Amino acid sequence: MPKTQSQKEDERIKAAKKLARTGNRKDLKAYLRLRLERCQEIEMDYWKECLSEAFDDAGIVATDEQITKIAGDVEISHENYGMAYGHDAIPNPLETENKNLKKELRDEKDKIICEICNGKGNLISYGGTFQSISTCLKCKGEGRYLP
Ligand SMILES: [Zn+2]
Repeated sequence: MPKTQSQKEDERIKAAKKLARTGNRKDLKAYLRLRLERCQEIEMDYWKECLSEAFDDAGIVATDEQITKIAGDVEISHENYGMAYGHDAIPNPLETENKNLKKELRDEKDKIICEICNGKGNLISYGGTFQSISTCLKCKGEGRYLP
């Protein structure tokens, strides 16, 4: 059975997540970006489905492009609804995840290389023929930190 677009994307996200675990910042950023895109797609799909059904009920014929355009507008209106009626105190889990992912991505971009360990994440000290490796306390072993 051929894979659907969604299955292919799931696999891409899974692969990116696996790469992100290796600690490579570029892989982590790619993974976070994919997750964010996926969340936005899920929200968009929801509005497109709502509109398609509403249009069917009302006997309105619209192209996919028209529905996508209207779905975008409805999504923006929906985002502003909470502000307009004070429902901001009850967060949408998808919006919350979106916000968190955006923050994580921004934080990841803002991180600077740790000058204590030179981005290695650990410190090596020598005593005669022995060496001891310890985790850098400044960056907690990540090699980078938020200034
Ligand atoms: Zn460090």
